[in-house]
Amino acid sequence: MGKSLIRLAVVAAMLALAGTALAQSVAFTFDDGPQLSETPRMTAQRRNQAILDTLARREVQAALFVTAGYGANRAEGYAMAKAWGQAGHAIGNHTMTHPDLDSAKVSLAQYQREILDCDAIVRTLPGYQKWFRYTCLREGNMPEKRDGMRAFLQQLGYRNAYVSFDTSDWRFDDKLREVLSKNPQADLAPLRQLYLAHVKQRALAYRAL
Ligand SMILES: [Zn+2]
Repeated sequence: MGKSLIRLAVVAAMLALAGTALAQSVAFTFDDGPQLSETPRMTAQRRNQAILDTLARREVQAALFVTAGYGANRAEGYAMAKAWGQAGHAIGNHTMTHPDLDSAKVSLAQYQREILDCDAIVRTLPGYQKWFRYTCLREGNMPEKRDGMRAFLQQLGYRNAYVSFDTSDWRFDDKLREVLSKNPQADLAPLRQLYLAHVKQRALAYRAL
């Protein structure tokens, strides 16, 4: 997940009333952005704008969970994150450098510092919400970390922006880069079909779960 360009997690918002069989809406959230690296067909700025244009065309209001050290801590990346807020999307917190809370090398205090440092940046953006998306969706592999984070978020007035639906979109991103690095003009239709089939399969699997 950390290596993905921009990670799309589709969150089935649990807005359904008790007794209703299915959730009635889906929230689109994008993690790990903005990133400043170029991809075979697009500069970082163009890619950012392409995503925003698509969301606007489809009239989707989404959320961007910023990993500030990937770009938003510099002028170019900050401008890209700001464009999301200005377009009406929500801006959330996804740490500074994307550490893994479950790692033995990452202390609870370090992880919390990462959130505070990211907050100092994202709080200045339009669309800012006190929403935290756990990196790698890991909420702590021991009670001290898990409970420490829950208390910390509550103290800050932050909400856990959990997901109820996850995909391996990062794996498709790896493949996309591989294909385009060999041939920037490659026909991406087959990959697109596979990706859509994957998302659909995940949607059905998580619904069943
Ligand atoms: Zn992430």
